[in-house]
Amino acid sequence: MTYLADDARYDAMTYRRTGRSGLDLPLLSLGLWQNFGDRSPLDTQRAVIRRAFDAGITHIDLANNYGPPYGSAERNFGRILREDLAPYRDELVISTKAGYDMWPGPYGQGGGSRKYLLASLDQSLARMGLDYVDIFYSHRFDPTTPLEETMGALDTAVRSGKALYAGISSYSPADTRRAAAILADLGTPLLIHQPSYSMLNRWIETEGLLDAVEELGVGVIAFSPLAQGMLTGKYLGGVPDDSRAATGTSLAPTLLTEQALTHIRALDAMARDRGQTLAQMALAWALRDTRVTSLVMGARNLEQLEQNLGALANLEFSDEELAAIDQHAVD
Ligand code: NDP
Repeated sequence: MTYLADDARYDAMTYRRTGRSGLDLPLLSLGLWQNFGDRSPLDTQRAVIRRAFDAGITHIDLANNYGPPYGSAERNFGRILREDLAPYRDELVISTKAGYDMWPGPYGQGGGSRKYLLASLDQSLARMGLDYVDIFYSHRFDPTTPLEETMGALDTAVRSGKALYAGISSYSPADTRRAAAILADLGTPLLIHQPSYSMLNRWIETEGLLDAVEELGVGVIAFSPLAQGMLTGKYLGGVPDDSRAATGTSLAPTLLTEQALTHIRALDAMARDRGQTLAQMALAWALRDTRVTSLVMGARNLEQLEQNLGALANLEFSDEELAAIDQHAVD
């Protein structure tokens, strides 16, 4: 059936400005890392993307190798874009990245070479059927490639019109400062940093990344804010058969230690006291510092998406709540 976006799609979402740029992002963005490959039903993918857009989620986050198999998330998204969202292209911020292994041989094995980044961007555009992406990221810092080369590739991507903005992911505070300085010299500002961040992973606070981006005027979009599902309460009664810990490779069941589960159980109880699910509290918590522009969360189905959208109903925390959460929100 032809898709018509909900007229009320901008009523409930809040948008934050990305660093010192002109670009607003929704508090919640949708990431297509694990649930949009060829093993995930296309009907479910379509339903999740439609509902996300209808709820004001204007930002979709991809990378060259999302799937599985590699490239399939971009291909499937390209199809849904063509069939459903094409009239709304200017209402969307679409991101992709290159940095991890993608194709055989020395030029597709990841890293930060100009050869790899620019070829990968062309491939991503072809898979999605796009003329440009909104944000193109260096997916990870590559210590074997001069940072000038990697940032030069991002600058070329922007100057060629194939990307509107440049981003970096998982760079240390020091490398972020260097990257921002190189890009500034080239005349292409660094828009955004995409680090991991959740109640179980607070490195951006403790290692000074939030301070660095604030100083540089760079936005932050935090990935895996639910710690890949650990912060949803779904593992409190064991490992469900259809969960990422059971079916995927990125969330090792060994992470679900008794100590981790003790913290998660305590956080779950606090969430209930707030009238939220643990997933909702974990998302609200990760948004409490306004230097965090947006969160890029995953949702495998409509129920998860719907629940996660509910986080927006209560984003406030008292000092007492934050202090109590700190006892259990630990790395
Ligand atoms: P999350 O921490 O949000 O985990 C999402 C997973 O948690 C879902 O796939 C689902 O897993 C489970 N889940 C989500 N909501 C609920 C719910 N309400 N109830 C129960 N379970 C739930 O993020 P991801 O790890 O998926 O990462 C999000 C995005 O971040 C990626 O899609 C990608 O765009 C980006 N990313 C970027 C990286 C980078 O290097 N820059 C690295 C990793 C991710 P299940 O299958 O178990 O149901």
